[in-house]
Amino acid sequence: MKYLSTRGGLPPASFTDILLGGLAPDGGLVVPESYPAIDAATLESWRPLSYAALACAIISRYADDVPLHDLAAMTGSAYCVEVFGDDEVTPVSEINDGLFLLHLSNGPTLAFKDVAMQLLGRLFEHTLARDGRELNILGATSGDTGSAAEYAMRGRKGIRVFMLSPHGRMSAFQAAQMYSLPDPNIFNIAVDGVFDDCQDMVKAVSGDLAFKERFAIGSVNSINWARVVAQVVYYFKAWFAVTASTGPRPVSFSVPSGNFGNVLAGHIARQMGLPIARLVVATNENDVLDEFFRTGRYRVRGSAETMQTSSPSMDISKASNFERFMFDLLGRDPERVLALWQRLDRTGEFDLGGTAEFARIGDYGFCSGRSSHVNRLQTIRETAAASGRIIDTHTADGLFVARRWQEPSMPMVCLETALPAKFNETIREALGRNAPRPEAYCDIESRVQRYALMPRDVPMLKRYIAERCPRSG
Ligand SMILES: *Cc1c(COP(=O)(O)O)cnc(C)c1O
Repeated sequence: MKYLSTRGGLPPASFTDILLGGLAPDGGLVVPESYPAIDAATLESWRPLSYAALACAIISRYADDVPLHDLAAMTGSAYCVEVFGDDEVTPVSEINDGLFLLHLSNGPTLAFKDVAMQLLGRLFEHTLARDGRELNILGATSGDTGSAAEYAMRGRKGIRVFMLSPHGRMSAFQAAQMYSLPDPNIFNIAVDGVFDDCQDMVKAVSGDLAFKERFAIGSVNSINWARVVAQVVYYFKAWFAVTASTGPRPVSFSVPSGNFGNVLAGHIARQMGLPIARLVVATNENDVLDEFFRTGRYRVRGSAETMQTSSPSMDISKASNFERFMFDLLGRDPERVLALWQRLDRTGEFDLGGTAEFARIGDYGFCSGRSSHVNRLQTIRETAAASGRIIDTHTADGLFVARRWQEPSMPMVCLETALPAKFNETIREALGRNAPRPEAYCDIESRVQRYALMPRDVPMLKRYIAERCPRSG
């Protein structure tokens, strides 16, 4: 399998060539030259597979330069009951007739990003060891992504993580989750500022190309291709669960969306031949994506226009993975993608409304909707009343929009993207009681915490990194 850039400026590269990278050199995103087609017989032959074996079967088609035996060992150790608390890894439950939840949040940080990140940590370690290299991951987090990255990279050889977070601005649970990690390769840097300050410091350091090269600085952001492909697996797994008693038939999925990574994986599964009817893109009040799928207009927002909501992991102003779907929608023509993104850079928007391409959007199964704080609270209450199950705020957005698009006799699976314990304040607001917390996390706030406090000072950050990277320096 070769990889290309959505903007045409990347010489064909292999999976491990692109594994550790971010954007393609031309500013585009890396995509496979084609999606491997899975015929009905192959699909059925995968039905009895464990999650780990299914992951290996699917990902090996994209990662054909990782030895199969090694890939099987990595999926085997990532996708097991010890890491995800369930033999199914991502179990499915029915909340009422034809409406299902796909549980993606039983990994170490209680949100779906663990599913991809746990494999990514192993793939990074494997590839770095093969090449005798090291990597220093530098990132900024407001909570979820940073902790998933730290839990995936902790203790891994050849990898250090430098994670900036806004001091005193995360929930006590989120801060404890990150700051209590004892591993010597994890460096938490609590910045005296807000998330945007952390982000700016990361950009300043990564923008110093000499420093970046010398200290092998990398990232694990949501455009990483391996993360996307690891997420394809659970669409297959869920489809097998929902069609276990009926045999092959189409199934719809509803996905709480922000950066368009999770639902893009559903699009890829569908392109591979998985019988998916609808792909419902559910947004919160930050409805950049809903606006596009309704009207064809894609208008990114500034940070002043990005609202802080009670489903904070979906508070995005532009969807960083969206370009990958646009590449497919525009007939995989890099020149058209480049032209569109040049317009986006110039004017902050583009509009495909009324074009032949946009008219075909339904052929891809996509539809969308938006949810608000009130919808979220109401959905959490209704779900608790009807099924006794407490869902998190992001999942509530997905479920709220799913109900609008549900068709009689078409199963609909909503992706559960976090556990409610992570967003307990809103659960208390909705239900007047606490969300249940998994036992292993009961004492998390009282564990010893370890972090460096730092002002918004880029030279100080560089020094901090340099002092801790003996070999690269
Ligand atoms: C990251 C995240 C999302 C959004 O997923 P994307 O892949 O960015 O669309 C939704 N819910 C939760 C809990 C998340 O952490």
